[in-house]
Amino acid sequence: MPLDEYRDRRDFTTTPEPDGATPAPADQRRFVIQEHHATALHWDLRLEHDGVLASWALPKGIPPDPRQNRLAVRTEDHPLEYLEFSGEIPRGEYGGGLMGIWDEGTFDEEKFRDDEVIVVLHGERVTGRYVLFQTGGKNWMIHRMDPPEDPDRELLPEGITPMLAKPSSLPANTDDWAFEIKWDGVRALASVQGGRVRLHGRSGLEMTATYPEVRGLGASLGMVECILDGELVAFDDAGKPSFERLQQRINIAGTSRIARVAQSVPVTYHVFDVLFLEGHSTMSLPYTDRRRLLEGLQLDGPSWSTPASHVGAGAEMLEFTRQQGLEGVIGKRVDSRYEAGKRSGAWIKVKNSQRIQLVIGGYTLGRDGRSGHIGAVVLGEPQADGTLRCAGKAGSGLTGALIDELEALLVPRATSPFGSGTVPAGTTFVEPVHRAEIEFTEWTASRTLRHPTFKALLRAGED
Ligand code: MN
Repeated sequence: MPLDEYRDRRDFTTTPEPDGATPAPADQRRFVIQEHHATALHWDLRLEHDGVLASWALPKGIPPDPRQNRLAVRTEDHPLEYLEFSGEIPRGEYGGGLMGIWDEGTFDEEKFRDDEVIVVLHGERVTGRYVLFQTGGKNWMIHRMDPPEDPDRELLPEGITPMLAKPSSLPANTDDWAFEIKWDGVRALASVQGGRVRLHGRSGLEMTATYPEVRGLGASLGMVECILDGELVAFDDAGKPSFERLQQRINIAGTSRIARVAQSVPVTYHVFDVLFLEGHSTMSLPYTDRRRLLEGLQLDGPSWSTPASHVGAGAEMLEFTRQQGLEGVIGKRVDSRYEAGKRSGAWIKVKNSQRIQLVIGGYTLGRDGRSGHIGAVVLGEPQADGTLRCAGKAGSGLTGALIDELEALLVPRATSPFGSGTVPAGTTFVEPVHRAEIEFTEWTASRTLRHPTFKALLRAGED
């Protein structure tokens, strides 16, 4: 009997699915596509044929474009009542999870063989001629035989590199700028297709497997095709972004190890731009338009969100981030297009900074143009017990004249003046008598300076 397998797989005292007891009328060539959030998201295509629904599970949904064939796994025939079924199949039952109707309508049947089916679908979302053909056992492929419904549809592009922000101070007038919080994390582009997310880093490295918690973003977008830009962020116990914590997530291999670390150091994907949507690049649109499209996607889930963007009031926003102990703000010109891979100045990063005076306890030599000369000073933070703790080194901010002055002033010695901390490799120690004023963004967890810049030399005895 056609529905035996369907009935064998189910317990109708538990599942709300129909039992197929109603006798079937003559075929009316109806179809349904259900979006099924089972263990793995898929779409079920069901075609009315010989009194039952011939069914295929499509892991990535219906291909909108003849250039992309997709897998279709033949499943057991379903009863006609299933044309209208939506609801929650209990966990533990066969196909447990939420099922909703994604599209429905009628079709013309051009061919219906055991290994090949050709139909013209007339649905709300899908219209056009499709062929399903068996490739081996339960595995079939589905191919769109018509041109895309949208004739200008483009395939999801690959290899986009993210737009970068130029370090800057706040513009005098911020009316034409939108400001977002600067997240201290890992930049990631997300390509979403057929409910699946692929994550790529700034250099193009794929990191999908590293951040399994972002997978749900794909399921939440369903069949929407898009490329998103954002930042993966981990938070410390005080709820502040912590690059230190995030580092525990980087370069981890092995599914079970990744899953374990994802539990202890979860990340959130902060999405701030959309570069491609439903077959079209959006990169040439102004920021304001892209932002409207992004907000329309309503990306807000357990491990992803769309952080706020404010037009104007840059100084207030920067002050807010300073009070919150955040790194700073990103400013984006509201009329600017997305310039992939560029640091054009249409995006700026404005960082809050701190200043501190530290003792110069050594130096390292420079490279390239500075080789043979001081490249960075190694800095010590005085401790309560009178020892020096090494706080890292600062090379940025050292100019030619300053380097000459330091080379004349610093007195090398054989032994380390540092009692603790990690001393950089290749350090030449000096008498710890002179100090430097250093601007930096934050302390790392091991109390070394992040983004230090040498601002001023304070000779021994100077304030
Ligand atoms: Mn299913």
